[in-house]
Amino acid sequence: MLIIDWDVHHGNGTQALVEDQSGIHFVSMHQWPWYPGTGAANDRGPHNSVWNIPMAAGLAPSAYVDALERGIDKATSGFVPDIVLVSAGFDSLAGDPLGGFTLELEHVAQLTRSIVERANGWCGGRVVSALEGGYAPDRVGAACVTHLGALA
Ligand SMILES: [Zn+2]
Repeated sequence: MLIIDWDVHHGNGTQALVEDQSGIHFVSMHQWPWYPGTGAANDRGPHNSVWNIPMAAGLAPSAYVDALERGIDKATSGFVPDIVLVSAGFDSLAGDPLGGFTLELEHVAQLTRSIVERANGWCGGRVVSALEGGYAPDRVGAACVTHLGALA
């Protein structure tokens, strides 16, 4: 299993749940420094099955897209997931009151398509996505529509 978390906050709860299981690889990209303060790049979990990607606020959107894709590549080097879970936090969009990332809807679509294409190769396209953060309701709604469209 691969879990990909693009919520603007570190997936500290998810990491705590899965880091003891070497068969679950977890990639979290998050703003740094930022709440909850965990998720340093050198925190790889006890089995080195965690890839934390701390990122500064206010970078170009492509910096976040590229960093997450590189993280996914590292997490799947020599590891073929049987299913992919997405922690789809839309507080990583530009304009969110609780985050400083700069993603737009086109980047949500780009990342989603990238994950689906990879999952098609790994595991017959088995992707499950769960809505996480997002505090600008109009933006979250639009991002959900975009994300679901790209998943389909
Ligand atoms: Zn969040």
